[in-house]
Amino acid sequence: MTKHTITRQSGTILGETYGCDCGAHLAGRMAAEVHAAEHHQCSVCLGSAEEEPAPGLTRPCTSCAGTGRRREQITWQLAHAEAERLITPAVVRGVVDAFAGPFRLSEVADAVRDGFGLPPGRLPVGPRVRDLLLELQSAGEITMVSAPDELIDGTDVVLFRDPQWQRARTLGI
Ligand SMILES: [Zn+2]
Ligand SMILES: [Zn+2]
Repeated sequence: MTKHTITRQSGTILGETYGCDCGAHLAGRMAAEVHAAEHHQCSVCLGSAEEEPAPGLTRPCTSCAGTGRRREQITWQLAHAEAERLITPAVVRGVVDAFAGPFRLSEVADAVRDGFGLPPGRLPVGPRVRDLLLELQSAGEITMVSAPDELIDGTDVVLFRDPQWQRARTLGI
């Protein structure tokens, strides 16, 4: 079976070009994504199974759960949509209200997963809960109390592995 892992080649005066393991030359990101989809590769990482959130930093592609495959990408997209439907701001707020002191993202995610009886890995609970906690944070309901775990030198990228928040009204008591 021919492999169709696509890699970006150095940008030229004509823009970005991509090359595939099968020998295809692809002019531009759009052509690369079409070729990836045609050959059942993830259209985000183009089959490499990795993403580069900052230059020189790679991690497993979050769109296809690090598989590089289109099927997993689609499954994961559906799972993200289901998580969004199931886990509402009210759900997360209800969990957060039960914490008197600081709480971690992982603790809230575990409580939500338990509440719905979801086995680990079934839905992207963590990313969904993180997005909702960030929303509560920007609404001023909770405050982040942990420092970022990792600042990537020379970029604006900040990685939070397991951030910690506290309810705003409990601060200073
Ligand atoms: Zn190819
Ligand atoms: Zn991918």
